[in-house]
Amino acid sequence: MVRDLVTVVGGGLAGSEAAWQLARRGIPVRLVEMRPLQPTPAHQTDRLGELVCSNSFRSASLDAAVGLLKEEMRALGSVIMAVADRTAVPAGSALAVDRERFAAELTAVICAHPEITVVRQELTALPEGLAIVATGPLTSPTMSRCLQQRLGEGYLYFYDAIAPIVTGESVDHDIAFAASRYGKGGADYLNCPLSRDEYYRFIDAVRSADTVPTKAFERCVYFEGCMPIEEMARRGPDTLAFGPMRPVGLIDPRTGQRPFAAVQLRRDNQAGTLFNMVGFQTKMTYPEQRRVFRMIPGLEHAEFVRLGSLHRNTFVNAPRLLQPTLQLIDHPQTFLAGQLIGVEGYVESAAAGLLAAINASCVVQGAACLVPPATTALGALVRYITDRSRRDFQPMNANYGLFPPLPGRERGRDKRRRLAERARQDLDAWIARHAIEPPLRQVGGAGSA
Ligand SMILES: Cc1cc2nc3c(=O)[nH]c(=O)nc-3n(C[C@H](O)[C@H](O)[C@H](O)COP(=O)(O)OP(=O)(O)OC[C@H]3O[C@@H](n4cnc5c(N)ncnc54)[C@H](O)[C@@H]3O)c2cc1C
Repeated sequence: MVRDLVTVVGGGLAGSEAAWQLARRGIPVRLVEMRPLQPTPAHQTDRLGELVCSNSFRSASLDAAVGLLKEEMRALGSVIMAVADRTAVPAGSALAVDRERFAAELTAVICAHPEITVVRQELTALPEGLAIVATGPLTSPTMSRCLQQRLGEGYLYFYDAIAPIVTGESVDHDIAFAASRYGKGGADYLNCPLSRDEYYRFIDAVRSADTVPTKAFERCVYFEGCMPIEEMARRGPDTLAFGPMRPVGLIDPRTGQRPFAAVQLRRDNQAGTLFNMVGFQTKMTYPEQRRVFRMIPGLEHAEFVRLGSLHRNTFVNAPRLLQPTLQLIDHPQTFLAGQLIGVEGYVESAAAGLLAAINASCVVQGAACLVPPATTALGALVRYITDRSRRDFQPMNANYGLFPPLPGRERGRDKRRRLAERARQDLDAWIARHAIEPPLRQVGGAGSA
C-alpha cells in the first residue's frame, strides 16, 4: 500500500520545490493545488510554478546575494533552478525565463515523478500529519481564515508596507547623525537632516515620481501607518514634515540647530549593518526610489538592499511562530514555506520550500532538523526572518547586509566576492557533514530534473 507521507499545500514555486525534494529522497508526496478549480486573483493558468508577474529571477551574478542563493540552490539539487536554467532567455546579468516553458516543464517534471500525486483541490484546513504549507501571498480566503484561527488573530498579515533598507556603510556619517528624538532611547537612529530648500525639492521629486500601478485586485485602501509617502506628499507639501520626516527633538550637531526635516534610519539587524527608512513605504518604481531617495542628504551614495513597496501579500509573523527549520514552534509536524513565511521573491520562496523539504525528510527519518550556516544566503535569510527579537516584522529578500560581517575591512565588490566564497565553502561543508545531497534518481530518463 502506498502511503502519503507528506502533504504539500500549494503548487507554486515553494510547493513544487518542496514536493520535488521530498520525492527525490524517496518520500511519497501529496501535492495539493487549488487551481484551476479555485483561481487566485493573479494566476492565469493551472500550471505549477506559474510566475505571476516578472519573468526574471533577478541577478545571476554572485555580486548580488540572490545570485549566490541560486548557486546554493543548485548545490542542493533545486528543481526550480534546473528548470529555470533550461528555459532561460537572454537577460544580461539576470536569470530570466520563458515563463510559458518554465511552468510547462516544471509541471511536467513534477507530475511525472512516481512519488508525487498532484491533487487539484482547495484545502480549507491544515492537513493532519506531516505537512508543508506553501499557499503563497494569495492564499485562499478560507485557508487564510484557518491559518488565522490556528496561529492567532494578530499573526497573519494581508499587506506589505515595506520601507527601503540601506546598508549602514553606504550612509554618509559626516552628514547623518546618531540620535533619538528628545534623546530618548540613546543614539538608536541615524538622522538625515534636510534644510527647507532640500525638503521642498525632495517633496517635488516625490510628487512627480513614477509609481507602480495598483493591480485591480489590490484593494487600495491605505490605513494609518501604512500610507505611501507619495500619497502623503500629495495631501500637502508639509504633510511629511509633520509625519515621518518631523524633526522634533533632534539637534543636528553640525549646526547646533533643529533641521527643517529629517529622515530617520532605524537599525534593522543586531549587527547594525542594515538601516530601515522609517515610515518610507512607497509605490514609486524602483529606479525612481533610487533617484529620489539619493536626494536625501547623507543618502547620496546609499546602497539599497531592499526597496519600498506596498502590495497585497499574505504572510505570517515568522519571528513569533517559526523555528529557523521552518517548523511551527508549537506544532513541529507543520512546516511553512514560500512567500507565506515572509521571504520576498521567486528565488527566496523556492529556497524556503527546499529547506522545508530537507527538514521534513529529516522528520520522516527521525533525524534532527537542520539550519544552513548563517554565512550562507539561505542561512542568513532564515535567521533574519525567524529572529525572535524582531519587532514590526516585514518580508525580506536575500541580500548581503544579512550576512555576519567578515573579519577584514573590504568593501563593495571585494567584500561581496569574499562573502560568496565563504558561503560556498560553508555550504559545501554543511552538505557533506549532514549528507544532505541524496543520490539523484532517474525520472523518466531525464536525470535529476
Ligand atoms: C501580484 C504579485 C506579483 C509578484 N511579482 C513578483 C515578481 O515579479 N518577482 C518576484 O521575485 N516575486 C514576485 N512576487 C512575490 C513572490 O515571489 C511570488 O508570489 C511567488 O510566486 C511566491 O511563491 P510561493 O510558492 O510562496 O507562492 P505561489 O507561487 O503563489 O504559490 C502558492 C500556490 O498555492 C495555491 N493555493 C493557495 N491557497 C490554496 C489552498 N487553500 N489550497 C490549495 N492551494 C492553494 C495557489 O493557487 C498557488 O499556486 C509577486 C507576488 C504577487 C502577489
